[in-house]
Amino acid sequence: MQFATRLDNVETSAIRELFKLLGKPGIISFAGGFPDSAMFDVEGLREASSKALAEEPGGALQYGATEGYDPLRAQLSAFMKGKGVEVDPAGLIVTTGSQQALDLLGKTLVSRGDKVIVEGPTFLATIQCFRLYGAHLISAPVDAEGVQVDRLEALIAEHQPKFVYLIPTFGNPSGATLSLERRRKVLELAVKHGTVIVEDDPYGDLYFGKAPPPSLMALTPEVPGSRELVVHCGSLSKVLSPGLRIGWMIAPAELLAKATMCKQFSDAHTSTFAQATAAQYLKSGRMPDTLAHVRKVYAERAAAMGAALKRELGDAIAFTQPGGGLFFWARLTGAGGKLADANVFAQRAIEKGVAFVPGAPFYAEKPDLATLRLSFATANIEKIEEGIQRLGAAL
Ligand code: PMP
Repeated sequence: MQFATRLDNVETSAIRELFKLLGKPGIISFAGGFPDSAMFDVEGLREASSKALAEEPGGALQYGATEGYDPLRAQLSAFMKGKGVEVDPAGLIVTTGSQQALDLLGKTLVSRGDKVIVEGPTFLATIQCFRLYGAHLISAPVDAEGVQVDRLEALIAEHQPKFVYLIPTFGNPSGATLSLERRRKVLELAVKHGTVIVEDDPYGDLYFGKAPPPSLMALTPEVPGSRELVVHCGSLSKVLSPGLRIGWMIAPAELLAKATMCKQFSDAHTSTFAQATAAQYLKSGRMPDTLAHVRKVYAERAAAMGAALKRELGDAIAFTQPGGGLFFWARLTGAGGKLADANVFAQRAIEKGVAFVPGAPFYAEKPDLATLRLSFATANIEKIEEGIQRLGAAL
């Protein structure tokens, strides 16, 4: 079959191939980016969906507005206010997961050959999505404090990108969080160069100790002129349920209107039933307890994984203990003559019954072959300990 040329730019993800092996019996997987299904607030969601049907069946089951179900937009506006972002319900649209927001940004902003700056490493699906629209991706390096802003500024000046895509808080896969000082600098850079900054923030609520710095969007009032240049993507996937497919996008009015037009041709609107359920859930007041619960469980798992990695792999692996999110981002050091190629390590690990994702596919440009991503979200502490022991054996 003759496929569209836009597909020439995109390959099936290497990770997908690896995931095929995960069905092997007894495998302990640190590979996925899923939250733990055992943590879903099933009771709360059951009540919310019943209420949605009882109180407004017409709204929950009928076609709806492309921008989103108004009671949910009002709840999301309040939810964002709790996180320091002032946004009217009309200043955001509901998307089918934040993944759709990324797709809409690709559709509305990227023409073939346009340059887009992303972090190196960044979320794999974003790389694929923007490439589908013909984006030429440029990587800005990330360290333990997030994207290196001096390098970012040099790249912006050199390439005049259409926009910059960042995951400033508990990045996927880097786990890194942009410091407050760097956040201010990013906003100043945006204004100085007139560059649009896309802030993807599905993990900001998943912190283990101290809350992370305010989002870029929350900081825009401190930097005059920056609000009109920042797009913020949020999601209920990691904290409540990815299956609901509820995300949202806050953006300048002109962009929001174009994105809404594109969404109309794509899925008409996000499931009204899911939106009405999410609206009832947020209204029920259960969210703070749900957040406290997931933070606690993931914090324990992250602590267990960090300790086990130190114990079982020692100086053969280097990493920063994440302060939130779902991932460890690590680098094989090759110390003691041990393996330093994460692809080879991943194969050996599968043979020993444990899976993780090598880091290379997360780079839009030159990959670091020694890197890897481990998720601590889905395995319990016992499985984490066992899995990391197997990793030690594989190395
Ligand atoms: N952005 C990032 C950084 C992610 O890690 C994910 C999920 N893995 C998404 C967006 C998409 O999430 P969703 O569509 O479920 O909101």
